Amino acid sequence: MTRPSRRSTMAMLAFALVVALQSSPSATHSWGGYHWARTANPFLVQLGNDVNPAWGAYLAVASFDWSQDLYRNPVRTAVVSGRTNPRNCRPTSGQDEICNATYGNTGWLGVAQIWVSGGNHITQGTVKLNDTYFNTSTYNTPAWRRFVVCQEVGHTFGLDHQNTNFNEPNLGTCMDYTNDPDGSVHGWLDNTHPNQHDYEELAIIYTHLDSTTTVTSSPAVSRANLDSPSSWGQLMKTTRGGRAQVFERDFGNGERVVTFVIWA
Ligand SMILES: [Zn+2]
Ligand SMILES: [Zn+2]
Repeated sequence: MTRPSRRSTMAMLAFALVVALQSSPSATHSWGGYHWARTANPFLVQLGNDVNPAWGAYLAVASFDWSQDLYRNPVRTAVVSGRTNPRNCRPTSGQDEICNATYGNTGWLGVAQIWVSGGNHITQGTVKLNDTYFNTSTYNTPAWRRFVVCQEVGHTFGLDHQNTNFNEPNLGTCMDYTNDPDGSVHGWLDNTHPNQHDYEELAIIYTHLDSTTTVTSSPAVSRANLDSPSSWGQLMKTTRGGRAQVFERDFGNGERVVTFVIWA
């Protein structure tokens, strides 16, 4: 497929997953058991925004889709400022970089790469979206753009494909190869978003917790719904006969939220 990039300073393994090429199917669709190390679920993967405005909305959709609190999905994402030149799309430790450029007639519409260290821990990921093809009438559609960015970002969490046959009816997930991304041509399911099985697979991959972390930041703190008292965590202090209380919710990894309450 493509040659993984190398770094001499660290023993890292990179692999590329290429939309336009065939790869072998697998029973589950975890790729190698590779996963981000983290000490708590859910966890945040930052998506560096190295795409142009033509891609911005599609990146936002993919970020939203992969962050859904459904079927015990442990993944949350946030689009953050990009830190690389999209043309070479260098990785940033602890997060993804999502890039687009006219990469040429490479044969691939999109490529995802993850760097693995310590045997199975993802330390960084990149996605490249190839405008050389997306600028053509065949691929310059919302369906193709949604499908490809969804799938490539999905790979950066350690997901493989659910199916790699382009000509079989859509399974209704962007992790399924297709020649009809939104199913509108053949009356198939829509393959431009994740499906239940993707979220369930992520829940399986990320069931265990690690003692270290390879993601940069603090997901649950910013993403969790902290509106209801049941989400505030442990009652630490009560004053004024119970009218003022302080709660602390420990998200692990040194992250916590303190909630100060004055009851009516
Ligand atoms: Zn793929
Ligand atoms: Zn682990």
